[in-house]
Amino acid sequence: MTTALYRRYRPQAFGEMIGQSQVTEPLMTALRSDRVGHAYLFSGPRGCGKTTSARILARCLNCAQGPTDTPCGECDSCVELGRGGGGSLDVVEIDAASHNGVDDARDLRERAIFAPARDRFKIFILDEAHMVTQQGFNALLKLVEEPPAHVKFIFATTEPEKVLGTIRSRTHHYPFRLVPPAAMLEYVQELCETEGVAVEAGVLPLVVRAGGGSPRDTLSLLDQLIAGSDRDADDRVLVNYERAVALLGYTHSELLDEVVDAFAALDGGGAFAAVDRVVQTGQDPRRFVDDLLERLRDLIVVAATGAGASAVLRGVPDDELERMARQATAFGVARLSRTADLVVAALDEMTGATSPRLQLELLVARVLTHAGVSQGVSPAAAPTHAAEHAAAPAAARTP
Ligand SMILES: [Zn+2]
Repeated sequence: MTTALYRRYRPQAFGEMIGQSQVTEPLMTALRSDRVGHAYLFSGPRGCGKTTSARILARCLNCAQGPTDTPCGECDSCVELGRGGGGSLDVVEIDAASHNGVDDARDLRERAIFAPARDRFKIFILDEAHMVTQQGFNALLKLVEEPPAHVKFIFATTEPEKVLGTIRSRTHHYPFRLVPPAAMLEYVQELCETEGVAVEAGVLPLVVRAGGGSPRDTLSLLDQLIAGSDRDADDRVLVNYERAVALLGYTHSELLDEVVDAFAALDGGGAFAAVDRVVQTGQDPRRFVDDLLERLRDLIVVAATGAGASAVLRGVPDDELERMARQATAFGVARLSRTADLVVAALDEMTGATSPRLQLELLVARVLTHAGVSQGVSPAAAPTHAAEHAAAPAAARTP
């Protein structure tokens, strides 16, 4: 059993963080120029590095060579606060979700009086800080306002607005954000190389998409895919596209090709057959429509940028780009964007719909009839709103 990727690759210095330069750069500058505050508030979505950064900041502050923007990695404090370390006596991590009351705050106040056991500062990291009660915050207020010189606070929270205003105003507030897909993709590509793991084309963009911008979630998914992968002829772990797409619940690109080709060719039989396969394979129709929208967006990008598409659609294999270029040409830009509008509307309607399958089939009918109308081959002479709605279910019954 190996250690989870997320733990093994947990950053130990600000320079190793990805996608948070808006936070790491000013923090490193403050550390370098000795303008460190006494209380920090790290806010942002879950799994994007707040607690990790709090530990790194503690490591920077308490490094024997510090305070420094780059911890030495060798002193006792650095080792203890590093990846394999067991934690330092002078860095206290408190999970505010379970220690949120007045008594906990008083307890913390008492501990703050004592000088650090060995290092420069006594550092309190309060995770889930929004869970601290009003009374708890009030009990902390004086300490955060005028802390002893040896005390530092780092509050980490997903909901900064729930942190008592008078506390918040005493902190330096650093907002973390989700990691953009391009940076994340580059990161997981490098990581797979380092790990000696081979990955089939198209897998990593799916992993990045499923991870939703959180390094923790992204690495957990990658971990799971690697664990479930066989070795190839060269005895390298090979993450297979079929398995990845099935495990992550996305639509196989071949199925998307089928639907899009059928739409482009106004092939009702082909489109409904493909949709039937979505339903028969047990896939969530809403997820499929979401994937279809993503594909249409990609096609719009391809239509608009031509040969430059690969710079925008990072991680898409060349043969798929060629296929998409053909599809974009077959559709034409105007029809692509009209179809995307229909898909967006269907996606909205599918929320909580009693029969998502029916909604999906109606969508197919609408896409086909709207294309027909625009090309003047529709049986409906006057495309009024009512006529469209009347025509759609009829078409849906004739796959
Ligand atoms: Zn050190």
